[in-house]
Amino acid sequence: MNYKSHQKEVLDQLKLIVGQKNYEEEKSRMSSYLIDWGNKFQGVSPLILKPVNTQMVSKILSFCNEYKIGIVPQGGNTGLVGGSVPSDSGLEIVISLEKMNKILDIDTSNFTITLEAGCILLNVQEAAKKVDRMFPLSLASEGSCQIGGNLSTNAGGTAVLKYGNTKELVLGIEVVMPNGEIINQLRGLRKDNTGYDIKQLFLGAEGTLGIITKAVLKLFPLPKQKATSLISIPTLSSTIKLFSRLRELSGDNITAIEYMDRTCIDMLVENTELEDVFKSKYEHYALIEFSSSSRDQGLQSLLENSLGELNEDGLALDAVISSSESQALNLWRLRETIPEVLRRSEAFLTFDASVPVSLVPEFISQATKVCNEICKLGRVASFGHIGDGNIHFYLLKSKNDDVDNFLSKKSEVTTKIYDIIAKLDGSFSAEHGIGVLKKPELRLYKSDSEIKLMEQIKKTLDPNNIMNPGKVL
Ligand SMILES: Cc1cc2nc3c(=O)[nH]c(=O)nc-3n(C[C@H](O)[C@H](O)[C@H](O)COP(=O)(O)OP(=O)(O)OC[C@H]3O[C@@H](n4cnc5c(N)ncnc54)[C@H](O)[C@@H]3O)c2cc1C
Repeated sequence: MNYKSHQKEVLDQLKLIVGQKNYEEEKSRMSSYLIDWGNKFQGVSPLILKPVNTQMVSKILSFCNEYKIGIVPQGGNTGLVGGSVPSDSGLEIVISLEKMNKILDIDTSNFTITLEAGCILLNVQEAAKKVDRMFPLSLASEGSCQIGGNLSTNAGGTAVLKYGNTKELVLGIEVVMPNGEIINQLRGLRKDNTGYDIKQLFLGAEGTLGIITKAVLKLFPLPKQKATSLISIPTLSSTIKLFSRLRELSGDNITAIEYMDRTCIDMLVENTELEDVFKSKYEHYALIEFSSSSRDQGLQSLLENSLGELNEDGLALDAVISSSESQALNLWRLRETIPEVLRRSEAFLTFDASVPVSLVPEFISQATKVCNEICKLGRVASFGHIGDGNIHFYLLKSKNDDVDNFLSKKSEVTTKIYDIIAKLDGSFSAEHGIGVLKKPELRLYKSDSEIKLMEQIKKTLDPNNIMNPGKVL
């Protein structure tokens, strides 16, 4: 049976595999699965499947492999590079993991949590908290994104500084291969040197090699104290000195340092109910968080003393220090609302860049210069995880410019900014992956030998190219 010529019969078979309650084919109920979070990528699909267990995923993949049907794994659909939505061919099937959302085990002595891939990140954080443990991955999309999506994009977020990217938080996974074979590596081992580390292949693979169905993740002691402050900083370059000094002064208890510039604060004030917490306007800000799992460390006074020293050194101009958890949450809300508010602009260009931490100011100033030269009316905004050298750099269309004129500059600005990133030995996709959006850059900025090896891996694991076809490679 050929899929294209017998589409109805083939789809009926897939519906039988998952059962009546576990698929969607009505147009009105499918729409949210077919468009990405940023409304940039719209696809077409005849069917959304919602398997409820690994065996069901295995049966779906083995069937799709036989009939060479392209499938798109989907988690919370918060990805920013178009990886989680189907193409416009109308042939690919979306497999949503949303019904595989059970936490299977929490081992407080082993500091691990074992779960299904469709668990929403926020629920995982909360489940860990209930047993006095912490799962540190934290992103602004945590109320919707799923662990399977986090693993498949190797998500970063605001706690990478202390705890690393998602890859560093994974001990084992269960994955279903394109031919339906189930690979079970659900071992909560910290040490396991028994040949190739197979799980690494699937972490950050954006659903192009298999479907992650379960995982064993690392937990940490729940911080007993947190101290949070928003600081205004005199210059861009002083943010880096500020970061080094804070590492020293805090005894390396700094868990987050998030940069944001004046435009970000202006955009928040102009477009949301959030307010500037300072009376004066500054050009540069850093949101910092100290945390410790010890009850006795006196973090609040450590933070206050550190800020006093930084002020004397001329590295901090002003600071708001939270005195309660709700105040700290309000400071974090400022930071976490920025991506959403910038993306509400009528037109914008965005870059998810990373460079060595010491070169972040150099990157922002070179990229700003390029934008000012090419697009005089544009507004530059930058924010990000400065402690990881990861900056989200935006060029926003101003009210006085028109969309066509603004977008006519896209190619020139993009090429120049990617060239700056390459010259600074950086990455053109620090956190968000490749998906569809960054495929051209992958070819331009990765070496031929790296691309060749990636293609060989893809061909070996997915010879019929059914897994998220057209994404990454
Ligand atoms: C407001 C906002 C803030 C964000 N902040 C950050 C941030 O700070 N850091 C960061 O890294 N990202 C960030 N992101 C991007 C996004 O949230 C992350 O990439 C997240 O990890 C995606 O998870 P998801 O479940 O939504 O995956 P999806 O968007 O559904 O999918 C992402 C990719 O993973 C694949 N996939 C999904 N589930 C599976 C699975 N079980 N098996 C195999 N492949 C799968 C998909 O095919 C797709 O290629 C942000 C996004 C938004 C909207």
